[in-house]
Amino acid sequence: MTYLDYNATAVVRPEAAMAVARALEAGGNPSSVHAAGRAARQTVEAARTRVAGLVGVAPGSVTFVSGGTEANALAIESARAAGLERVVVSAGEHDSVLENARGALVMPLDAEGVADIDWLKANVGEKTLVCLMLANNETGVIQPVAEAAQVVRAAGGWLHVDAVQAAGKIAIDFTALGADTMSLSAHKLGGPQGVGALVAGTRATLARRLHGGGQERGRRAGTENVPGIAGFGAVAEVSGHQVEWRDELAERVRAAGAVVLGEGAPRLPQTLCFAAPGFASELQVMSLDLAGVMVSAGSACSSGKVKASRVVEAMGRGDLAPYAVRISGGWASTAQDWRRCGDVWLEAYARIAARKREVA
Ligand code: PLP
Repeated sequence: MTYLDYNATAVVRPEAAMAVARALEAGGNPSSVHAAGRAARQTVEAARTRVAGLVGVAPGSVTFVSGGTEANALAIESARAAGLERVVVSAGEHDSVLENARGALVMPLDAEGVADIDWLKANVGEKTLVCLMLANNETGVIQPVAEAAQVVRAAGGWLHVDAVQAAGKIAIDFTALGADTMSLSAHKLGGPQGVGALVAGTRATLARRLHGGGQERGRRAGTENVPGIAGFGAVAEVSGHQVEWRDELAERVRAAGAVVLGEGAPRLPQTLCFAAPGFASELQVMSLDLAGVMVSAGSACSSGKVKASRVVEAMGRGDLAPYAVRISGGWASTAQDWRRCGDVWLEAYARIAARKREVA
């Protein structure tokens, strides 16, 4: 089996599985004062320190939540509660941002999938919440977050950065980027699903979405997901890249007639998005799956259906959107995985092309 769909969810790293198992075995509620409770608290705080280190902040800036979706929702709700009513989102944002920021103004993308900072300058307005992801989940394109931060800061706004796809793949410095809040999700870097974090800088006050006990310093009630948090802490680091293997595959599919998307922009080192006109995304995903190669068409839609890529459409390439696929590797991927993906894809593409010639 060849798994190249890390942007949907990464293969769980053994360190994470071990940390989860250890925390489950140890038990204890971090709010209890006895020895088991104190040990669980220690597990949570050690993980907080590691997650904080991943983005270069103090541990107190990290609030553990249930994943990237909750982190995005909490950031948007917090900014609104702080009086920022005008909201701008980039056209490439994940659904968990778009759905929580309905009615927002949309910052367009250029043909390479990069958000238009000149548009932002002209539209930022006073007291605006701007949501700009650090790296796009479909194309891997890295966004000009630091530039956006300057614009947002000058206007007295709030910059929320969804770093769910970037974390663990590239180095991140929260302060240098100038973010006010930042979302992270453990399962995109080899940790367990259902745990993430919202990082908040000193200018951001988080709203209380869940009321109850005073966990997470009153910012997020509910007994902490200790095993999940322990697993997150165990993988909070940048893992190896695979640019060469990714680019070798890009060359092969391009030679066959595919168009590589976002190639002119800085991208995550393990993501490749391309479109092969005439070879529908769904058919590509299914053909590869039949041969044991798992990839995806744009973002993994919750219904399991394949939709034309909204991000590729936003890049002005609506003509290519129905034909786009995303290949994304990670810590356990090998050169062999990338090569096999290319072999299988090229075979399937040749078969489709031959069939089309027969019909014509
Ligand atoms: N943001 C981005 C860019 C994502 O790719 C994802 C997951 O696909 C999310 C947020 C949501 O994260 P989670 O699955 O942890 O809720």
